[in-house]
Amino acid sequence: MENLKILVVGVGGLGCPASLVLAEAGVGTLGLMDPDKVELSNLHRQTLYSTQDVGRLKVEAAGEFLRSRYHRLRTVPLPEALNASNAEKYLSVYDLVIDGLDRLEKKFFLNDWCVKLNKPFVHAGVVRFEGQVLPVKPGETACLRCLIPRIPPPFAMPTCQEAGVLGSFSQAIGYLQAHQALGLARGKGPFRLWKVDSWKREARSILPERNPSCEACGKGLSAKEMTETGCAR
Ligand SMILES: [Zn+2]
Repeated sequence: MENLKILVVGVGGLGCPASLVLAEAGVGTLGLMDPDKVELSNLHRQTLYSTQDVGRLKVEAAGEFLRSRYHRLRTVPLPEALNASNAEKYLSVYDLVIDGLDRLEKKFFLNDWCVKLNKPFVHAGVVRFEGQVLPVKPGETACLRCLIPRIPPPFAMPTCQEAGVLGSFSQAIGYLQAHQALGLARGKGPFRLWKVDSWKREARSILPERNPSCEACGKGLSAKEMTETGCAR
């Protein structure tokens, strides 16, 4: 586990709890990628930060907190947004990727790059009372585009910032995401899609099927087709 290098893209409501679990499990290196600074409104659900961190880069504050608890952990701060010019450089040096992003179009962008680079990753998303987690082994298991071929319009898929989410619920999904990542790192399937509804107090998992005509893992995407937002089609 100490040789494992995991990149956490987005150190917010999902990335904070996921990083904590991964550090606790003994992962050797955590890359922390996020261009944002800590804001007061983040603190209720982004538990790596305190009021003293407001105004600091999230990747600096998160790395400091994690290393103070897990002294063997190495953290790599990457205070940048994932985009077409840095995706390959950063994703290719890690064994596995955690999708801690907020906006759905960015999640598709990350999905498409991970599939292209054959990089295992764990997607997760939370809106209001619903959350989902999907571990992806490119070429073997269903990717996000197998399930949702096209990016829904922004009004159909609000972010948790816009729609609201309980801090404790996004933490629960982040913990589940990290546990799925540990299973993926060990190559231990089955890799199931988890859907959790905190309002109905219901959790279920299914084995998602690959879509042979998926534009990411089926027919393949060329880098040219990818845009910064992932809205190439
Ligand atoms: Zn696919």
